[in-house]
Amino acid sequence: MLNELPRIPLALLPTPMEEAARLGAALGGPRIFFKRDDLTGAGLGGNKVRKLEFVIGQAIAEGADTLVVCGGYQSNLARVAAALGNRLGLQVELVLGGIPGERRDMTGNLLLDHLYGATIHYIETDPRWDFGSALDAVMAKLQAAGRRPFLMPLGGSTPEGMAGYVLATHEMMAQCRDAGITPTRLYVAVGSGGTYSGLLLGALNFAAPYKIIGVSVSRLADYLREKIPVEAANAASALGLQKVPAAHDLHIEDRYVGAGYGELTAGCRAAIELVARTEGVLLDPVYSGKAMACLIDHVRRAVIKPDETVLFLHTGGWPALFAYSASDLGLESPTASVLQNKGAVPKVRQAP
Ligand SMILES: *Cc1c(COP(=O)(O)O)cnc(C)c1O
Repeated sequence: MLNELPRIPLALLPTPMEEAARLGAALGGPRIFFKRDDLTGAGLGGNKVRKLEFVIGQAIAEGADTLVVCGGYQSNLARVAAALGNRLGLQVELVLGGIPGERRDMTGNLLLDHLYGATIHYIETDPRWDFGSALDAVMAKLQAAGRRPFLMPLGGSTPEGMAGYVLATHEMMAQCRDAGITPTRLYVAVGSGGTYSGLLLGALNFAAPYKIIGVSVSRLADYLREKIPVEAANAASALGLQKVPAAHDLHIEDRYVGAGYGELTAGCRAAIELVARTEGVLLDPVYSGKAMACLIDHVRRAVIKPDETVLFLHTGGWPALFAYSASDLGLESPTASVLQNKGAVPKVRQAP
């Protein structure tokens, strides 16, 4: 059934799998491979592109002409959907939630949402993903105007969206074979949990060698341990997959969230800086930075042994970096020098 789902090829696949050798050396041992899903391409990439191949595929198959997408002010899903909507000729309505008083500067992803020309609706709500009746109201208004809107759930995490990561498992296993590695663990950030569920279903059904460590960026582990198996089982039946996860298949960490979703932690800042400076690869402050903080902490606490090989799924999100200041990221005292330009060549005058 997986291969019969409506799908629009939007992602640049396969994304690279590359060894982060200098990061591994800096941490004193394990081999670390990045699966570069920050490079899925469309709309500046990230994990949402694999999901949207199927979610937008379904929307179009159902005759939709408008996508209604919800998320936080700096939502990566919103940014990618806004870009892809333009590419496919679909109207995009964004419903962006933030806790009361949260800043919504037109920076980072939000700048791009405006540039792409999406229609934006803000809602102040706590928790920020509790949209209440706002989504129904936007849907009703669009329907009354004669549009055919498709409502995308948070994170694009429908069973079809998860299919993107079930299939990504095939891609990763082939790349592991080519690289001659047998990773013991795969680290990935968990927001809505759709990426994790897809990866877990893929790993179980295609006998991947690794266990999957999901690093929560918002919810408590107990909540995710209840929610994910239900949603994964639901997706398995929709996608025709035999094996469904049991409680012992889930490995969820919630100690890297910090004060909450989008709130930077010292570990996240340090992870972003270390990966930028060893690999030249950008992580983001909301998701991949926290997932990497977990991986680094696991190396330091010898949860990962020096002779292990681990995968890190880079889910993208780095456009959100540009919504942060240097001091947010702990870069307030940059070491830079100012040079004198003695003997500079005089400016050439414009011809009159
Ligand atoms: C959405 C997102 C995630 C989380 O994916 P879920 O499927 O919602 O758990 C991780 N990283 C980045 C950069 C994201 O944008």
